[in-house]
Amino acid sequence: MQPIQIAIVPVTPFEQNCSILWCTKTMKGAVIDPGGDLDRIRAAIAETGATIEKILLTHGHVDHAAGAAELAESLGVKVEGPGAADQFIIDDIPRMAEKYGIEGARPVTPDLYLNEGDTVSVGEVALDVLHVPGHTPGHLVFVHRPVGLAIVGDTLFRGSVGRTDFPYGDPDLLIKGIKEKLLPLGDNMVCLPGHGPVTSIGDEKAHNPFLR
Ligand SMILES: [Zn+2]
Repeated sequence: MQPIQIAIVPVTPFEQNCSILWCTKTMKGAVIDPGGDLDRIRAAIAETGATIEKILLTHGHVDHAAGAAELAESLGVKVEGPGAADQFIIDDIPRMAEKYGIEGARPVTPDLYLNEGDTVSVGEVALDVLHVPGHTPGHLVFVHRPVGLAIVGDTLFRGSVGRTDFPYGDPDLLIKGIKEKLLPLGDNMVCLPGHGPVTSIGDEKAHNPFLR
């Protein structure tokens, strides 16, 4: 059996790929980017049989982070990530939630901000933390090298990249981060983006027009 398994739960009107990643040996897991629709996330957790021990956030946008506070409280777990530079975006969640009609959205104060080079544990499994800014300043990517899976949030999509048309967005920085940190993960690295289908580094190197 693989050391990790993953279940994907699309949440919020943005169909954001919340994921539940668990260590198959210990059956301890993490919820990554619980943006909302907590009933759906709780049902998916129950189906996995995993015991959630933490919440991980790739970045501070409402569709990724707005359910984290409530889920963390109800499960009695801590929130790790994103980078500290995203806190001002997290603090803006109530305003964005109202704008986009997302109910139950709350800002969160992470228990731990994460940085490039950090490692987070899920059961006995380790995920490497990469800092890939540009979509947001504190955006993180979580990488499990042994299996070859990267949770890339809103950095890289199949055939596209994350939006940078925010006042704090930086398209050059995003492309630089993808080229310098994600592409070297290798062609076989499977990427789970925050929206849309799963892809791989090899496919994006070959077909993604933003990386030419
Ligand atoms: Zn985003």
